[in-house]
Amino acid sequence: MSESKPLYIYNSLSGKKEVFEAINPPFVGLYSCGPTVYSDVHLGNVRTFLTFDIVYRYLSYLGYNVRYVRNITDVGHLLDDSDDGDDKIETRARLEKIEPMEIVQKYTNGFHDTVKTFNLIPPSIEPTATGHIIEQIEMVERILANGYAYEVNGSVYFDVKKYAEKYNYGELSGRKIEDQLEQTRDSLEGGNEKRFFADFAIWKKASKETIMKWPSPWGDGVPGWHLECSVMSTKYLGQQFDIHGGGMDLKFPHHECEIAQSVGADGVNPVKYWMHGNMLTVNGTKMSKSLGNSFLPHELISGDHELLDKGYSPMTIRFFFLQANYRSTVDFSNEALQAAEKGFKRLMNAIELLQNLPKSDKSSIDINKLIQNSNQSMNDDFNTPVTIAYLFDGVKMINSINDGKEEISEADLTVLQKFYNDFVFNILGLQSETSDSKSNNVLENVMDVVLKLRSQAKENKDWSTADLIRDELKSLNITIKDSKDTSTWDYE
Ligand code: AMP
Ligand code: ZN
Repeated sequence: MSESKPLYIYNSLSGKKEVFEAINPPFVGLYSCGPTVYSDVHLGNVRTFLTFDIVYRYLSYLGYNVRYVRNITDVGHLLDDSDDGDDKIETRARLEKIEPMEIVQKYTNGFHDTVKTFNLIPPSIEPTATGHIIEQIEMVERILANGYAYEVNGSVYFDVKKYAEKYNYGELSGRKIEDQLEQTRDSLEGGNEKRFFADFAIWKKASKETIMKWPSPWGDGVPGWHLECSVMSTKYLGQQFDIHGGGMDLKFPHHECEIAQSVGADGVNPVKYWMHGNMLTVNGTKMSKSLGNSFLPHELISGDHELLDKGYSPMTIRFFFLQANYRSTVDFSNEALQAAEKGFKRLMNAIELLQNLPKSDKSSIDINKLIQNSNQSMNDDFNTPVTIAYLFDGVKMINSINDGKEEISEADLTVLQKFYNDFVFNILGLQSETSDSKSNNVLENVMDVVLKLRSQAKENKDWSTADLIRDELKSLNITIKDSKDTSTWDYE
């Protein structure tokens, strides 16, 4: 472990920051709920995945050997939480008149492209719900055998009331079951199969029309949504593992049910630290596909959306998210994104200067404090906005050294360069965008030369050469527009 100071993690289970102690060091098991691949991920989803990318990166930086599991939900997530709605993927497949697995493939590909664009490190394992049907059936059998579930007409429901007699259903979300008991009678009228309103399906009987279904001891059906995460997290990380994450909206019922399932099946509380990222909002309302206020990442990058003044680069957007604490909401605004764009450029300019700063015999600045503070803020529950504020203290130093107002020794410069490399690129996962702009500059310069040659050819009335240049460029998707005096070019 490279740092001696403890890492504190805010544990949603206790509602407090706790010193992080790995169950089985130096191994750390990290699980994050992944996307339901029935449509494109929106920018809010990206925020949550970014939060756990930072957790992964920082734990790795501290020297832990992290196994990061992030699943793909490709069956079982219903359109609402009632257990009676249709499967999101199957509904979409009917709409687009294609196979459910084509929907799964299409949006899994899209998800992978998106997370790559934002420089998220791929997880160590990316399991799918459909790939773990046998294990899910086995878990249902264990829960049934322990008496915490019951079968009705080919479906199996978790018996929350029975569970609550012995365990605390609501320990994560703080919801009290006894406060809700009164509702039972009303909600169970009308032939509902559940004995108790809070019961949830762990296996759901398939209808004749259902395409995605599997044989089970209770007939053909599909696993309940919460079940896949219980099964896949413990299969790859052990019956009790270190960290489980997801967005705040998953705390209840999804994560509460995961705890109940593991305890019901194996008598073990599965997770030591529960972490929940807060929501990206638009005018104070959660960004969500169903509310129609969501942006797709490519809309934000191109600026092609009615709420956007212009487009922003993926790294500007990543930086924008990291400027907020993961436990606070972030409200989308053009002003905040413009400020993030400026800030990100300032940081990157300083890093470029850092590579060629003048060295002196001794330093007039204290870089140790800067490094200590930055480690401390990351150790304080991954506090990226405070860390970024320290990085900007360093930017001031770098600019002052560059202007000759401060001095830095060769040894300190090496340490400072490594520090920025670690924090900006490895931990915050930002990427320099200059290589792109450099190649753009080269292209601009080369095109200047080509256009000059062409206008010379035209002056010499060498029309065939001028046309040849134009046609060859056209085949490279570069169009030349001729006006009276000059020619310009555009890349399509
Ligand atoms: P889903 O595909 O709906 O299961 O969501 C994938 C992840 O994105 C989950 O961890 C959600 O909690 C999270 N999420 C959904 N909406 C938002 C939002 N507006 N802001 C941040 N995270 C979100
Ligand atoms: Zn999950």
